[in-house]
Parts: sequence; C-alpha cells; structure tokens
Amino acid sequence: MGKSSKSIGIEIILILSIIATLYLSYHIENKISLQKEKQIKEEHLYKEKVSLLKEKEKELEKVNATIQEYENIEESIESKKKEYFSHIKELESKILNGESNEKIAYLTFDDGPYYNTYQVLDILDQYNVKATFFTISMNGEYCYDNKSQNCFLLYKEYVKRGHTIANHTYTHGIRTGLYSSVNSFIDAVNRQEEHVKSQTEGYTTNILRFPGGSSTAKGLKNEMINALKEKGYGWVDWTAGNGDGGRLDSLEQAWGNLKNTIDSNVEVILFHDYSWMTTAMLPEVIEYLRNNGYQLYPLFYESDMVHK
Ligand SMILES: [Zn+2]
Repeated sequence: MGKSSKSIGIEIILILSIIATLYLSYHIENKISLQKEKQIKEEHLYKEKVSLLKEKEKELEKVNATIQEYENIEESIESKKKEYFSHIKELESKILNGESNEKIAYLTFDDGPYYNTYQVLDILDQYNVKATFFTISMNGEYCYDNKSQNCFLLYKEYVKRGHTIANHTYTHGIRTGLYSSVNSFIDAVNRQEEHVKSQTEGYTTNILRFPGGSSTAKGLKNEMINALKEKGYGWVDWTAGNGDGGRLDSLEQAWGNLKNTIDSNVEVILFHDYSWMTTAMLPEVIEYLRNNGYQLYPLFYESDMVHK
C-alpha cells in the first residue's frame, strides 16, 4: 500500500515549513549581521566626528591663544617701554647726583616730519640710536619724497623704529599768533597731539618744546607752562646744539658750535631734521658722542631734563 494522500500532505507541509524556517532564519541572520555592520559603521563615523570635533576644539584654543597674545602685545610693549625708561631714569639720577661718571646725550630733532627725516631715521637705525622728534605738521602737509607719498606717513615710522614723538605745536607759528594768547598756544598743542594720535593709531605725546624755545613765549611763558601742566605735559629746551636752526656757513662752523656747547654729563642736543648739514654730519656726531662716553637715549616724561 502506498502512503495515504493525507500523510503525503503532512510531509509536504513539514518540508515546506522546514524550508520556510530555514529561509526565515537565513533572512533574520542576514538582517542581524547587516544591522551589526550598520551599527559598527555608525560607531566608526561617530568616533570620527568626535575626533574631528576635538581637533577643531584644539584649533579654536590655538586661535584664542593667539588672539589673547595679540591683545596683550600693546600692554607688553608699554610695560617694556616703562622698564626701559625707568633704567635710564635711574642712570640719569645717579649722573646728576654725581654718583656715576657715565654720560647721557638725548638727541632731539625739531620741525619734522620733513624731506630729510627718512635719511635721519636710517642713520639712527644704522647706529642703533633712539632719539626724540619734536614734530609739527605744517611742513608735512606739503612734503613728499621718494620713499613715502606724504611725510605724514613718517609718524608711523617714528613709532615703528622706537623713537619718542614729542609735540612742537601744529603750526610752529611764532610769527602767526602762536604766542599771542595762552588759548592760541594750547590750541596748537592740542591740534598736534590729535594729529599724532590719528597718524599713529593712538600714540600719545606728553613732552613739548616751545617753537623757538620757551623764552620766545615771553610774558606768557609761565601761564603757558601752567596750562601745559594741567594737560599733563612736561616741556624741554636744550643744552647743546650745532646751530642748525640759524644760519650756518660751513660744517666746520656747525662742528664748532656743537663742541662748544657740549660741556656736561647729561645733554639735550638740538637738531632740525630739515638741515642737510645735520644729516651730513650725523654719523660722525654719533661716533663723536660715543667716543666721548655718551650713551644716546630717547627722551621720556620722567626725565629730569623734562620740566614739569
Ligand atoms: Zn622749531
């Protein structure tokens, strides 16, 4: 007897269900392994993202540190300057009190910026000398030379090369009413102060030299000095010079003037950067002063040579 059709039916069902089970389990396993793969990929991606983020964070930290450093540059320049001037001040006091045999000469240049100023600056750089520039602005308005479009650009050079910028009034108008009243004088001082500030992005000067010297202010001198004091300014004349503000017939004459006026251990030496004679003799002047024991420094408000 053959199998009954019923049992055949059952066998078929069994076989089919085995096939179905196998098929399903294969599919499920496949799905699970796909999911695992996906999970691993996602984990990997996540890790990558985290490490990228960490790198970005590090970069950002570096950028922030640079910004911080940049923001502190001005402060650190200011503190270095203060330190530098306090050393000079200490030396100057010792010399003036007779406790030191050293010597200081403050080279000062009036009435610039002007055509010759670049040359003066280059000579000073060559000898590593820092000086003081008593600036006006009337000349600069009409001043052009081959290195700069306009002499006003020199204000930035003074700062860049480490010199002291001082105030000599905007107009230098000895014959055009500068000294006719305290107000007209202080106006010209304020105008120059603002001009220096705007040309240098913030340099503030608080040292002044009267155009023509303080005696030129005559009867109003003391009132003007008081007005300067109120502004926090000190002022300075000079103790030596080569006479380049007046008529000079020869370099010999200029040398004679200079040597005759240098007679103390702290000197404030008057020059003008418009004088070709001064520019011509400047390298030798620096050598002469150094050979005679002078250290050359820029002026600063606290110096005893600056009257307060
Ligand atoms: Zn002058």
